[in-house]
Order: sequence, then C-alpha cells, then structure tokens
Amino acid sequence: MSEVAEHPAGIITVSPDATVKDAAIAMLTNRVRCLIINDQNGRFAGIVTERDIVSRAVACSKDFEKTTMAEIMTTQVVCCTPGSPTSKARELMTANRIRHLPMIEDGVVVGMLSARDLMEQQIFENRAAAEEVAMLASCLKSIDLNEVANIVTAEAPKLFQAGRCVLYFHLAHHPCSGKDESATKRPALVSYNKCLCKEQCLGSLEETGQLSNDGRFYYDNAPELCRSLGAEGPRIFIPLNIAGLKDCSSAKSKRLSGYLCMCGLAPASAANKELVSYKAKLAGEILNSHLTNARLYQEARLNSLTDPLTGVGSRRLLEDKLEFEVARARRYRRPFSVAIIDIDNFKTINDVLGHATGDIALKKLATCMKVQKRSPDVLARYGGDEFMVLMPETKADDAISLLERLRAKVQQIKLAENLLITFSCGITESLPDRNDSATDVMRRADLALYEAKSAGRDCVKIWDRSMAERLRAGDIEVEKVKKLERRIVGLSEKAEKTFIQSIWGLVQALEAKDPYAKRHSENVMNYAAGIAETMKMPPKQIEVIRRAAMIHDIGKIGIPDAILSEPGTLSPYQRGIVQQHPLIAVRILEKMTFLHREIIIVRHHHEKWNGGGYPDGLSKTSIPLGARVMAVADAFDALTSSRSYRSSRSVAEAVEIVVDSSGYDFDPDVVKSLVAWVESLCRQVGKALGEVSPQDLLDSVTTDGHGFPEGAQINTDYKPAKSFDPPVRCPVDGAQDGSV
Ligand code: GH3
Ligand code: MG
Repeated sequence: MSEVAEHPAGIITVSPDATVKDAAIAMLTNRVRCLIINDQNGRFAGIVTERDIVSRAVACSKDFEKTTMAEIMTTQVVCCTPGSPTSKARELMTANRIRHLPMIEDGVVVGMLSARDLMEQQIFENRAAAEEVAMLASCLKSIDLNEVANIVTAEAPKLFQAGRCVLYFHLAHHPCSGKDESATKRPALVSYNKCLCKEQCLGSLEETGQLSNDGRFYYDNAPELCRSLGAEGPRIFIPLNIAGLKDCSSAKSKRLSGYLCMCGLAPASAANKELVSYKAKLAGEILNSHLTNARLYQEARLNSLTDPLTGVGSRRLLEDKLEFEVARARRYRRPFSVAIIDIDNFKTINDVLGHATGDIALKKLATCMKVQKRSPDVLARYGGDEFMVLMPETKADDAISLLERLRAKVQQIKLAENLLITFSCGITESLPDRNDSATDVMRRADLALYEAKSAGRDCVKIWDRSMAERLRAGDIEVEKVKKLERRIVGLSEKAEKTFIQSIWGLVQALEAKDPYAKRHSENVMNYAAGIAETMKMPPKQIEVIRRAAMIHDIGKIGIPDAILSEPGTLSPYQRGIVQQHPLIAVRILEKMTFLHREIIIVRHHHEKWNGGGYPDGLSKTSIPLGARVMAVADAFDALTSSRSYRSSRSVAEAVEIVVDSSGYDFDPDVVKSLVAWVESLCRQVGKALGEVSPQDLLDSVTTDGHGFPEGAQINTDYKPAKSFDPPVRCPVDGAQDGSV
C-alpha cells in the first residue's frame, strides 16, 4: 500500500500509485476531503478531491483496488503561495469554482486552504469589523450637525487607518430645477482632518462621474488633483445619502448629498479589500442614519428660531441673542439698545381687510424692516403684531434715528386705498449696572412702548426714569402692564409649542423607520395620560408627563439601527449601548430649559421600583412619579405591540404581566391605577377583560388628555382574573429588557 503521510500543516499526502481505496480510507480516517499527491521526491504532483473519487472512479465503475491516483488526479492545479492575502485566495476559489487551494512553495505543498476555513475566517473578521464600526457609532454622541461632522472626521480614519479624511455635504434641500442658480451656490458643510484638497476634489469627482450615486463606495487610488496636494493612495470614498438633502440638479441621475473620503490607508488595513468594503458599507449606513438625524434636529431647532409667517427671527432667537448681549454688555461694558415695535390698530386692519390681508401686512412690514435694519441688528417677531429689534453697540440716541427712519419707510407700505400701516415703538438702552437683566431691559422697552401708545400712537419713545416713577405713582394702570406681561408669557408658551411640535416631527420620523416602533411614543403618551388621570394627578402634571412621553425615546437617535433592530438577544455590550438612550436624550434636550420637568422623567423612565433599572439605579419613591408612570405605560405598549421576535399580547395578558412585576419593576400604586383604568373601561364599554383591545384603551383617551372615562376607581386588591394562566415572572420586554 502506498504511504499515507500526514504533513505537519495538516495536509494528507499519498503517492501517485496509491489506489482509490487507499485514498478513500485516508480521507475517511483523516476526515479530509482532499489529498495531495506527491512524487517520490516529495514534490507536488497533483490533487485528488472527494468529488474526483465520486466522478472519476465510482461513476465510471472503476476497480477501486486497481485504479491509482495517477489515473484520476488533477495535475493542472490552481494554487497560491504562502504569503498570498486571503482575499486573493477567496477570489481564486470563487473564479475557479474550487473548494480547496494548495499553497505551494518551490514545488512543495506547504499548506491547504479550504472554502470552510476561509468562510470561518471571514465570519470572524466581519464580526471584528462590525465591532470596530460599532465603536464609531458609540463615539457619535452629539446631535449637533457640526459637532457630528467633526467627530466623524476625527474617528472614521481610525477605522481604516487612513492618513487624511474629509466629510462634505450640502446643507440645504434644493428643488429640482435646472435653472436654480442656488443649486450651484448651495451651502455646504465641510469637515476635514489633515486633508488639503477638501471640497476641491468634488470637481474631479463630478468629472469622473463618481458623484452620480449608485449607492456604492469606491476604493481606488487618490485622484491626480489630490495627489498633487500630497494625498497618498489607496483611498476609500463613501457616498452619503442624507435624507432630505438630495441634490437633484441633474434630472436623470440621483446624485449624492455628500461623501466621506479617506486616503493614505495603511497597507495592512488596505490589504484585505473585502474587509475594507464591508467596513465601508457598515460605516456608510451608520453615518447616513446619524447625519440624517442630526440634520432633522438642526432643522427642528432652526424652525424654532424662525417665525414661520414672516421669516424673521422667532421670539426664542431673540431671547437667546438678548441673553448673549446682556452678558457681553456686562463683561465689556459696551452699550446695546432694544426696540419693541407694535402695529397701531392692527385689530382694525384685520377686521376691515380680513385676516389674510392682516398676514400680508405683517409680511410686508417684516420685509421692509429686514431691508432697513443694519446687518448686526437682530430682528424678530415677538408675537402677534409686535416685532423687536436688538441693536448691539448702539446707544438709544442712535437707535431712535434708525427707528424713525424705519417708521417713515413703513408708512409708505400701501395696504388698500387710504389705509397705511403705522407703528408705535419703545426703545431702551442697556444700563451700566451689573444687575441689569434681560427681563429688566424688556420691561423698560415695554414701558416706553406703552408711553408711545398713550401719546397717540405712530411715534417712537425712549425709556426714561420718569416712566418707572409714574408707574409707581399709579399714573399707569399696573393692571394693563400686568396684562401685557401675561400676554408675553402666553407668547413664550406659543414658541415652546412650536419647538415641541418640531421635536414631535422628529420622533415620528424616527419611528417611521422601524415598523415595530410605529406610534410607540404616541401610544405611551396616551397610556401614561390614562394612568395619570386615574391617579387624579393635577392637569399640569399630566401635561408634563404627556410631553415627556412624546420625547422619551429621542435618545434612540444615538443608537445604531443595527442594534435597535437586532431580533435576537442583545449582547452585554449592545445592551450597554442601548441603556445609554435616556442619557443621550438628556444631552439633546438639556439646553431647552423650559423642558426641565420633562427631562427628569425622560432620564428616569427605565428605573425599576426595586432599584435594578438604569441609568441611576434609583428605587421606589426616589424615582420621579412621572417616570414611574411612564415605565408602566412604556412596558404596556411594548407588550401589546408586535415585535420582530414575537406577536403582540392581549390587554389581559399584558395587565397580568405588569401586575406580576408590580413591586419588582413597577410602582405598585401605578400598576393599580392601570388596572383600575382597564376595569373601568370594561364597565363602560360592557366588555369582559379578555375582550378589551389596546385600541379601546387608546380611544378612551382624547388628544387633550381629558377624555378619560369617568368613574375609574383604584382597586387596591387587584388579583388576576381566574381565566389567566398562573402568573409567571418573566422580564417585561420592550421597556425592561433593554430594547426600546
Ligand atoms: P394697538 O394700537 O393698541 O396696538 O391696537 P391693536 O389693534 O394693534 O391691538 P393689539 O396690538 O393688542 O392687537 C394685536 C392683534 O393682532 C390681535 C390679533 O387679532 C392680531 N394678530 C395676532 N397675530 C396675528 C397674525 O398672525 N395674523 C393676523 N392677521 N393678525 C394677528
Ligand atoms: Mg398693535
């Protein structure tokens, strides 16, 4: 019998005169599917695979004991050298449709690669690459577009061991118009890390057609232009498709909204092209999703800073700028002035010409003032028919000349025959007093406006101390001033509402991406309102809970989609990332001081009654009440909605699970209130518990939170109905297992 030898690298070799039977035994005993045939000098002669034995010996009915390897072996063998990269080996095997690839050095076989080895290695490499890309995702903690761009250009090159990096994208959405001049002058955001060509290479990319996006990334050498600026190859170019930023100046090709370009990849990193491609694909998906979210957030914020009717600044913008100006005036002892402008008899304009013409008047006035003001001045609509101008580095005497000029210009606006617009204006200058606050400045300007109206309207007044004294002496009706203040507070609430609406739009856009999360925030809002009403909480507190519920998952924006949509159990690492979402939400919202009560609830909505929750491990009543209510509402919606890994549970089943977790995960009083609400609804609609649907519950809460069925009583002795299966303590999915 010819010798079967085991090679040190696990290769089984046989001699050319070995029989098919010998070969089959060698394969079986060594559990291999391929044998190397070496000649007498130990040099490679050919290869025989399991498939060869079947097709060339068995199928041809050859005598197993007589037919030798020399007769059936393959001598024209595709092979590689020991140093070949695995990607090259994979390419060879795919191109030649073979499952075994010998490594040959100086005519001697030194190793053997099998398709299975390569597949295992690829899975291992892909997993490691995915973890590296997840690191990039975990660095994207900000939601501010500029900050995000800077983080990307700082972190993405580490992923590919690249020397230089540039991120470029257009900022504005442009209509599909070939004639649109602005499309060529579109504003762009460029963030770069050691890249010298920056957006210059955009031109060369457009020329080579790489910008007509087919959704693929490019892996090549840096273009000539970049090389002339010191760029080195190889380069990876990841096209970005940031939703809402589509550039459609060319009718046919859907073009890019941006790209991330990195060059000078380290040879070790660049060697495995497939791995680089895989990482680029994952990184591209993460960047598209995070940059889209950051852009939506920026848009929401910008909307809150712009008055939708007139396009001038909003009250919020003015308040921000005023705070800034007050601080600057204090620090550098520089003056600034503020003017409040109020249209005279605007109610009459509305009454006589109609509301629509009233709107046109507001727009015309805003446009006129925008043209007349100086560039550093900030113009904002304060609300209704009131506007404000903040004039940095301006004393009141200079401010009055500007306002008088404005007044004259506004009088030229024609609304209808014989009907002109006039306004009254109050001006004040900042006082060189360290305690002069933004509120004081506004109050003084308001008083001066009041004087202007009292003096017969259509005039400008500067605040002086006598006005305040007259106020004290009772010349001015304090009640009227107070009324004005109340109106101002009301206007501020209006601005907040606009902001909340923008955020709500963002939440809905986020949820729309995930079929299992659709309407989740809205449902949680209604469940939380229903429970809170049953608990007889004051309406204001209920409103806070409703608003908190609307935005409770906003932090999801920072969690990679791949983790959020993971159908299986999360790894401890993934779970850690998901558990960041309440803190990400706090970071996003913390600057919105008017949301401070909602922010507390959002932060703690995953705390557990027994202290086992996150992020702070609070327990019992140290968890804010609103957060305890939301935890139950959140869990209840998660249970009654379908998930990728299970179908939805009925109201009865969900109630049972929540009751079972009462005192462990949830506040027992809140759970009792949920039960009381459900039971009350059963009585109201005449259905048994097993027949009530989640929609019945949701329908019983009206959008303003006051449609809750009357007469719900808290039943402190709730026991699951007899028809339920025996309670089993299981983790409440959705709200408690870390998925959101
Ligand atoms: P005065 O000279 O004392 O200012 O009298 P007025 O009639 O202008 O009274 P006031 O400033 O108190 O009233 C402002 C009115 O502006 C009340 C409201 O009907 C109207 N208004 C508020 N917002 C809008 C809006 O967006 N469009 C229109 N067309 N009218 C508005
Ligand atoms: Mg008015």
